[in-house]
Amino acid sequence: MQLTGTGIGRRTITGPAVRMPDPLPAPASTPSTLGAEAELGRATDALAGVSAELAERADRVSGAAQGVLLAQSQMANDPALRTEVQQLLDGGATAESAVFTAFAAYRDMLLGLGGYLAERATDLDDISQRVRARLQGLPAPGVPDPGHPFVLVATDLAPADTALLDLAQVLGLVTSEGGPTSHTAILAREQSLPALVGVSGAEGITDGQTLIVDAAAGTVVVDPTDAEVAAAQDRISALDEAASAPITPGALADGTLVPLLANLGNPSGVARAVELGAEGVGLFRTEFLFLDADRAPTVAEQQEQYRAVLAGFPGQKVVVRLLDAGADKPLAFLNDAHEENPALGVRGLRALRTHESILRDQLTALAAADAETDADLWVMAPMVATVEETEYITALAHELGLRTAGVMVEVPSAALLADHVLAATDFASIGTNDLTQYTLAADRVLGSVAQLQDPWHPAVLQLVARVGAAGRAHGKPVGVCGEAAADPLLAVVLVGLGATSLSMSPAALADVRAELALHTPTQAQALAALALQASGAAEAQAAVRAAITHTHHEGTDA
Ligand code: PEP
Ligand code: MG
Repeated sequence: MQLTGTGIGRRTITGPAVRMPDPLPAPASTPSTLGAEAELGRATDALAGVSAELAERADRVSGAAQGVLLAQSQMANDPALRTEVQQLLDGGATAESAVFTAFAAYRDMLLGLGGYLAERATDLDDISQRVRARLQGLPAPGVPDPGHPFVLVATDLAPADTALLDLAQVLGLVTSEGGPTSHTAILAREQSLPALVGVSGAEGITDGQTLIVDAAAGTVVVDPTDAEVAAAQDRISALDEAASAPITPGALADGTLVPLLANLGNPSGVARAVELGAEGVGLFRTEFLFLDADRAPTVAEQQEQYRAVLAGFPGQKVVVRLLDAGADKPLAFLNDAHEENPALGVRGLRALRTHESILRDQLTALAAADAETDADLWVMAPMVATVEETEYITALAHELGLRTAGVMVEVPSAALLADHVLAATDFASIGTNDLTQYTLAADRVLGSVAQLQDPWHPAVLQLVARVGAAGRAHGKPVGVCGEAAADPLLAVVLVGLGATSLSMSPAALADVRAELALHTPTQAQALAALALQASGAAEAQAAVRAAITHTHHEGTDA
């Protein structure tokens, strides 16, 4: 039997299924025999205990996992929820029943809101379970420990469980609920744990059944044949070999180089990026250095930071982005005026132009840091919408001593006029995060429209293709530095559309490197053509996955 879902990562794993234990049943609604005051004491202790336990778990992890656990710890302390619990206790409920009812009401509200917020409902269910287990003196619900490696099967996983999985035991995850932005997915991605989420039919998997989870294909085979297990083992060995091979430069199967670069926001990330094989920096987000500053940084202050980054990449390319202030990243010294629609306001290059002395200082600091180091410094401007802006920033950067100046393509107008834009500058770097936001008219920080923020959307890919074609026509580099480049399959598509380098958070480099090596340029172009022709994001992804699965299984060209 084969089930399908959304795959996280690209690995294949096989092993016996172990199900997460069933959740605690809903408590009986019989009235309290202890009285409201005693019940309040019990509920308060249990909520505080769970909040402290989650905060303590947060201390043991880092990154996204830490943020999720801290948020959960705060939810357990939420005053509105406490008031709700107290009212139920005053009405004669037991602590168990009051906690259950109050959390369930909150969860239903989140589910009703849909999208990103609905995917937070699991977080609340988990807190409710933990508080009720504590009230009854039971162990906190959690991941089983059968004493051998296994594939964990669950309805959905709580962040507290996903964050602290024993990766020596848990080979992968299969959940019947959850989408690509659920915390299970985010945390699995961060831990490089293969997972399949939103698998309908996963409820029927029982303990001990053998599973083959193929995250790249988005499939789980239940009770596979011996031949299927052998084929999966071959694929696992091939991928393991690729993963343990010495880090080589990013390249397609025929050796065509596709430099794989790091997205960084601080010099402190340099060492890790180098360790993971970054061949340079494709996006250094300078505004991250100055988010808390209430005055513009001096040339000397900036020079020191830029020198630290450039010094980490002797002989390699480092693309520094000029301050991208505004919308989700306001800088007090560049744009503090209130705007109704900040994403459409005076941000990025527009803000820099209204404070040209700050722009000149930044370019001056960059030129000075460049002179002190051996990296190949490129600078680029964010939020460029017109050819005139392209000409302006390219000329100013050259005038102030920067050899290579380019623009980010993250506004549809710049992509549509890519031919003129690339004629007027040295290179382009596509920021798919903003390009998706502006193409689909979906605020990238608004959970309720998160489904539209999908760079697989053919409307976005058609714009990328336009920039790729213009780059080829002018013989100029076209990088991609948005999150899209970190998705291994989408990375292949982007190269097929004409991207000449890819920049991503360093954790994603290995998977992207391994996937690129599986495809020739002709195959990447064929996959890109499939994605371009699709009617929507899901269709584009499905078409590419299907073509790749076919290649794996048939050994034919994609
Ligand atoms: C982008 O928009 O894709 C991008 C890389 O820039 P940022 O995410 O910093 O806006
Ligand atoms: Mg951007």
